[in-house]
Amino acid sequence: MYGRERVRAGELRDRYPHAAEVLGLYLALVEVWESVGDDVPADGALEWAEANVLPRVLAATAAGPRPLADAITAAGAAATGTGLLDAWAADEDLTPVERYLARATMHVVPPKAWTARRKAPGPARDDGPGPGSARADRPGPGSGGRCAACGGAAQLSYRVASEDPLVSGRRMLACAKCPHEWNFSATTCPNCGETGKRTVHAEAHAATEAPHVGRAAPDDRSVFPHLRAESCQTCRSYLIDVDLGRDARAVPRVDELAAVPIDLHLAGLGYTKITPNLMGF
Ligand SMILES: [Zn+2]
Ligand SMILES: [Zn+2]
Repeated sequence: MYGRERVRAGELRDRYPHAAEVLGLYLALVEVWESVGDDVPADGALEWAEANVLPRVLAATAAGPRPLADAITAAGAAATGTGLLDAWAADEDLTPVERYLARATMHVVPPKAWTARRKAPGPARDDGPGPGSARADRPGPGSGGRCAACGGAAQLSYRVASEDPLVSGRRMLACAKCPHEWNFSATTCPNCGETGKRTVHAEAHAATEAPHVGRAAPDDRSVFPHLRAESCQTCRSYLIDVDLGRDARAVPRVDELAAVPIDLHLAGLGYTKITPNLMGF
């Protein structure tokens, strides 16, 4: 079920020492997701996920990168209590640890089952805004930069391989909240709709040192020849773009996890990622 993801994460873990821990955790989560298989019930999916998937995610994470494991221990029951999954599905504000746990757990629950609790939801979480105040500042589904299946923001963009080597392939956006992907203009910012003021940042030359990210095109020595960031000067946001024409083996949602040096570079320039990835980068 996750065969391509598993193989790719293993390849990238060997290739990119800087991402080895994160990809190791991703592989542990793949085990969790595979162990669930097709068990997700149509009725009461959130209750079920809370009881059956969240504990496995916690166990997998306890053996993962120290900062994340420690943050979960520090947050304790507050991060794993009833209502976490509902809050995530409703796009309420969550702490980074809560968001990670909810995303890793809800990965196996399709959007149509997100509201499928058997009983009425409990009292509103006292540490977050209620459903009515959820993220009114963001455009809703239907505006092209948002997922038509769940209203989520774009996690990343990728280019499909083109028949013509001189022409970039079609651009797709992948949802941060669900598996949906959709075709999107290659020249438009998914966050604000700006069509002009975009900048491409690619890792241009590295040799054996830390990757150097700049505004030039990647060259033969690039560590990430198929990864780049597309930023928008109007809303100061960016996302990672994966070019399958440059690396046909890439699995965009896995490769994006390895782009941490590019994320750090963009953060240093004052850009905010449209959506942090599963691991919080
Ligand atoms: Zn979605
Ligand atoms: Zn923008």
